[in-house]
Amino acid sequence: MSEVLVIGAGPAGLAAARAASDAGASVVLLDASDALGGQFWRHLPETRPARNEKYLHHGWSTFRALGEALESSPTVTIIRSAQVWAIEVLDGVAVHAMIGEPDGARRERRVFRPDALVLATGAHDRTLPFPGWDLPGVFTGGAAQALAKGERLAVGERVLVAGAGPFLLPVAQSLTRSGSRVIGVLEANRAARLARGWSPRPWQLLGAAGKGLELAGYAAGHVRHRIPYRLGRAVIAAHGTDRVGSVTVAKVDAQWAPVPGTEHTLEVDAVCVSHGFTPRIELAIAAGCELTPNRFVAVDGNQRTTTDGVYAAGEITGIGGVDLALAEGEIAGHFAAASATESVSAPPTAAIRRRRVFTGFAHRIEAAHGIRSGWSGWLTDSTLICRCEEVDFGSMRAAAVATESESFRSLKLGTRAGLGICQGRMCGRTTEELLCALNPNRELSDGAVSDRRPLASPLRIGELAHPSSQNNARKGTP
Ligand SMILES: Cc1cc2nc3c(=O)[nH]c(=O)nc-3n(C[C@H](O)[C@H](O)[C@H](O)COP(=O)(O)OP(=O)(O)OC[C@H]3O[C@@H](n4cnc5c(N)ncnc54)[C@H](O)[C@@H]3O)c2cc1C
Repeated sequence: MSEVLVIGAGPAGLAAARAASDAGASVVLLDASDALGGQFWRHLPETRPARNEKYLHHGWSTFRALGEALESSPTVTIIRSAQVWAIEVLDGVAVHAMIGEPDGARRERRVFRPDALVLATGAHDRTLPFPGWDLPGVFTGGAAQALAKGERLAVGERVLVAGAGPFLLPVAQSLTRSGSRVIGVLEANRAARLARGWSPRPWQLLGAAGKGLELAGYAAGHVRHRIPYRLGRAVIAAHGTDRVGSVTVAKVDAQWAPVPGTEHTLEVDAVCVSHGFTPRIELAIAAGCELTPNRFVAVDGNQRTTTDGVYAAGEITGIGGVDLALAEGEIAGHFAAASATESVSAPPTAAIRRRRVFTGFAHRIEAAHGIRSGWSGWLTDSTLICRCEEVDFGSMRAAAVATESESFRSLKLGTRAGLGICQGRMCGRTTEELLCALNPNRELSDGAVSDRRPLASPLRIGELAHPSSQNNARKGTP
């Protein structure tokens, strides 16, 4: 039976696996996590179930239905704790995975050679640096969300949420539902930009009526818990010794540059900051897939990438939220199965329609909330940019100015920014943007980008030396 391999068991990957299986392919679904659901449906482990798991989730019944269909299908193999660390394209695609506990000493090395591949590796959240952002008690919005959904942990008692984008709203809701008092939500963008981003062709939003209801739910929560929502404001510094105790908040202009004289201090014991998402595209790059100018995986109407037999869905093709990820996943899985089995079947028209609606949504999010360049105005010389290697803004700027460098690679090697354990996942895009702003030509010339990671995750030399099993995994294997 022809095989479709899906990497990532978030909304996009689950929908892809289900569609590929429905279309008659044998499916292997891999995820680095020990649970299905990805970032959106992160939940408590089965050994510690919640009385009401859907409490912090939207679309929980969709997740349950997808999970149950896949678990019970005889032609679907789900492999959890499967970290894909490399992809090679030689004669077809070879997917290299380590299977087992990430910290375990004896992971099994396995190579898959599927007939078609769906990449659904999602995104990680992006937080711009500010003085004090490395203090305990400063969280990314995604981390706070993960702790609330995956552990039922509140990150603090008196919490401020700040940054940009609609994601700030579910973060604030999860915090209040986990027991925190949210003292405010600060959106960096001003009303005029939000209006310009969201208001064109409002009739196109009708297809996304569910989102309107979701928004109404967040608004009701804000009223009930008396959470002020302020526009054109940002957290520009966090203060504390062992832990954050207060933050400086300022008005920012349309480009997010702090407006002098508007600073004031708020007492908090935690702050959650999120400025959007960065797609996890290292595997797509390894597979030779072309990227769009704004660095997402380029796909055609069938979610097919520029590499033969490789499809992509979800946040790696554009940040559009769960509904877009589900629609794209269904389309990718359907056409990946058709390519693997060399069969033709009716296109998934409902999913294609939903994709059209929610692609428009993704464009609006970027237009209304995308990062503006003035934020570097809140950096000081001692602000850490790369936290793993402790490279501060002052030394990065000194290196960039002294060398007039236009090369991301040379700045990395000169300062070690982006060379630490996270391999630039947190600071890579930020370092690129700062370097661009600092060099005389305002551009990078060496073509090196922070998303290129030939090894997608840390590996032990011993694991690499161990022989791999070359097979297409079947039900019952780990
Ligand atoms: C931390 C975080 C929290 C979020 N919380 C919310 C929220 O509460 N509400 C909301 O509307 N949106 C949230 N989002 C946005 C959300 O990611 C999307 O709306 C949705 O989950 C996208 O689905 P996806 O399938 O594209 O990606 P994801 O859900 O991110 O799924 C990708 C999956 O791929 C797996 N993966 C990635 N790389 C590899 C690899 N190399 N090997 C094996 N597996 C791999 C990951 O483990 C993950 O399970 C969150 C995003 C982040 C980063």
